Amino acid sequence: MTLTVIAMGSNLDDPPRQLKVACQRLSKLPGLSGLSVSRVFTSPPMGPQDQPSFFNAVAKCHYAEEPRRLLAELQAIEQAMGRAKLRHWGERCIDLDIIQMGEQLIHEIDLVIPHPGISERIFVVQPMIELLGGDHKVPGLDDLVTLRHKLKYQSISLCEDIDISGAIMA
Ligand code: ADP
Ligand code: MG
Repeated sequence: MTLTVIAMGSNLDDPPRQLKVACQRLSKLPGLSGLSVSRVFTSPPMGPQDQPSFFNAVAKCHYAEEPRRLLAELQAIEQAMGRAKLRHWGERCIDLDIIQMGEQLIHEIDLVIPHPGISERIFVVQPMIELLGGDHKVPGLDDLVTLRHKLKYQSISLCEDIDISGAIMA
């Protein structure tokens, strides 16, 4: 069992609903247990600016299978939810990224763990603090509170009226 962190993002086709569907599908994956999700945050797009704001949340769970298996499962969920590749860092109905799997370090052409974008993305760090606490450490990085401090100029807002945790299936 590996403590596993997955980031979810959406800025198309009713993003809160997309995040709920993703949660529901994650909770059904073989080998995955103890799923919990952060609250939802919204922030301006990172890539092209002529696209809607993103809605993001982070999930944590225990995962019993190999990292590659999880990548394939996440990509299958993205496909099933109708994700189309429009442009780099562009709009998408759902994006599911593996952020961390315990202490594992993987550096392959199509799979990098820990995810290389963590320390540049407040929309990953802030929800991770909620789930894992500020002194949690991702291998090779400062603790989460230190990462957040370095990102204090990035804007992010809590979506107080959105709750996706109800979508997790027992
Ligand atoms: P991005 O998430 O950077 O916007 P995509 O979702 O289109 O881009 O993913 C591009 C590629 O990133 C995928 O084909 C996948 O193989 C690769 N990738 C590498 N590391 C990871 C990771 N930790 N989690 C998810 N995808 C990853
Ligand atoms: Mg992705």
